[in-house]
Amino acid sequence: MRVFPRRKRTWAVILAFGTVVVATLVILIQPRARAALRLVHGFSALEVDARVWFERGAENMATAIATALPAAVARVESCQSAPFRTSFRIYVCASHQSFTSHIGEPLGSPVRGIAFPWDVWISPKAFSFDRQDTHREALTHELSHLHLGQVLGWWHRTKEVPSWFQEGLADWVADTGNELVSRREASEAIISGHRVQLDEAGRLPFPKQPESYGMTWPMFHAQSRMFVEYLRSRDPNAFARFVDAVVHGAKFTTAFSLNFGGDLSHVWKDFLQSVSQEVAQATGLCTTRPNCTPQNAITIELCLRLTKGTTTLPLLKDDHRGRSMVFGASWYAKVEPRKCILAPKTTA
Ligand SMILES: [Zn+2]
Repeated sequence: MRVFPRRKRTWAVILAFGTVVVATLVILIQPRARAALRLVHGFSALEVDARVWFERGAENMATAIATALPAAVARVESCQSAPFRTSFRIYVCASHQSFTSHIGEPLGSPVRGIAFPWDVWISPKAFSFDRQDTHREALTHELSHLHLGQVLGWWHRTKEVPSWFQEGLADWVADTGNELVSRREASEAIISGHRVQLDEAGRLPFPKQPESYGMTWPMFHAQSRMFVEYLRSRDPNAFARFVDAVVHGAKFTTAFSLNFGGDLSHVWKDFLQSVSQEVAQATGLCTTRPNCTPQNAITIELCLRLTKGTTTLPLLKDDHRGRSMVFGASWYAKVEPRKCILAPKTTA
């Protein structure tokens, strides 16, 4: 009578054990998982700072990272309102190929660094990114992510904090985010309607990707940073209280409304207004042209740039009239070789 249930139990144990083994193998087959779990070879701790681990051939870069580390840690702790909770390592790879193979990205990936739950990884690309040495900035940016993950827990961070805020905060703290898209280009895109989508919370299991709504990562970073900096410039004390609340686990939307006197969409509208005014003032076009408003100043500026052949803004082709139109602009910019004609949209 007892033999059958005992066999059943035995099979249940074997099945459970097998499932755990298979799940573990599936995880460990991923390079990124092995790097995150520190299951890597060929790295040694730097003598002058044992937090920094280097691959053979990366000693000089690792030393530069170690030199930059104290200031980067201080900056993150000061801006993000809390000390790091636990120790961490910085892994410095000898080549971008080694870096991308460890983090499971294609070799052509422009990623300079990445934060895992316990560590930060740095590519040599951080030292020569787009002809700039950005290793201090890349280090600080990734430490911002690592810090937020430490103080909130990675589950809470991913679930509660929207990725635009995580990236915008890291970009503000580290002075990154404008390497490939300038503030001016980000402003122009915002005014033309090509805007970052502002989630009110994070997403599990993975954050929303900007590619899902046709935005590049550099543009996503530039606009996210702009909005975070706007929040700070609007009221530095409120911003500090808001960051403090988020870092200590408050619900994102609640902390936002409490500190900025309105919900996300309300404050975003104020931000759009300030961007329009900033661009209009920067171009100076509205002071010299009749009927010019901040909204159509961008189109006039674009027209000038089209004439010079220097624009990279996305255009929508107007079907039968052969005109191109900027997203959301109230004026058309008719584009011909070496010529650009403006016309109000209502009369087009
Ligand atoms: Zn980031």
